[in-house]
Amino acid sequence: MKILVTVKRVVDYNVKIRVKPDGSGVELANVKMSMNPFDEISVEEALRLKEAGKASEVIVVSIGPAKAEETLRTALAMGADRAILVETEDAVEPLSVAKIVKGVVEAEQPGLVIVGKQAIDDDSNQTGQMLAALLGWAQGTFASKVEIIDASNANVTREVDGGLQTIEVKLPAIITTDLRLNEPRYASLPNIMKAKKKPLDKRSPADFGIDTAPRLKVLKTEEPEGRKAGIKVKTVAELIEKLKTEAGVL
Ligand code: AMP
Repeated sequence: MKILVTVKRVVDYNVKIRVKPDGSGVELANVKMSMNPFDEISVEEALRLKEAGKASEVIVVSIGPAKAEETLRTALAMGADRAILVETEDAVEPLSVAKIVKGVVEAEQPGLVIVGKQAIDDDSNQTGQMLAALLGWAQGTFASKVEIIDASNANVTREVDGGLQTIEVKLPAIITTDLRLNEPRYASLPNIMKAKKKPLDKRSPADFGIDTAPRLKVLKTEEPEGRKAGIKVKTVAELIEKLKTEAGVL
């Protein structure tokens, strides 16, 4: 069984985001970019399934600018077998991403597609679900455990409000990954060198007949309100008094 993993190049999660002066989005010039953290978890899970003998090949795909090749090379250095870059300089919305990935799925015929639960730049949490709908496949979202039972079934444990829920999904299926699924490995230096020689296919959205023109328009982007400075109280009685009269929470 092949596993297809989607990986998105996003602003590194350690970077302090700055909103552009005109409010049209966040500043991307000279900002460190990395693989979306949920996608690192997806790559790790696919590699573990391959190492456990449940998968034969791990293919990674990214839709984005030429520089997304770096993100794909990171996944190859972690251990993925080959990569596909669907190159576009446009910002691609989740529906277009899902349609392009559907095209890749039709060409590659994977038994499992692993998608991050959300991209930390747009926080859409849409792509995996849209892809499942477009393909008419089962989906196990917010996965914290994945077990391949046999060629046609997998169990997915999902993080839900009240705790953990385990479902059985028919394969092929879409899985979206949550934080507690695993801890991704680091790529070793020899593997980073080897990854430079692994195959990377370059395609364009037009190869899949997809027009990536946006359907949404960002009206405004604002910085979150800064936190107000705290105060120190001298006694528990004063704390309770302030919680009652000033904060109004008691
Ligand atoms: P979103 O629906 O935008 O929050 O993204 C959820 C997941 O979809 C991400 O974690 C990625 O796995 C995948 N994804 C979204 N956009 C892209 C992209 N441009 N290239 C590759 N994967 C993507």
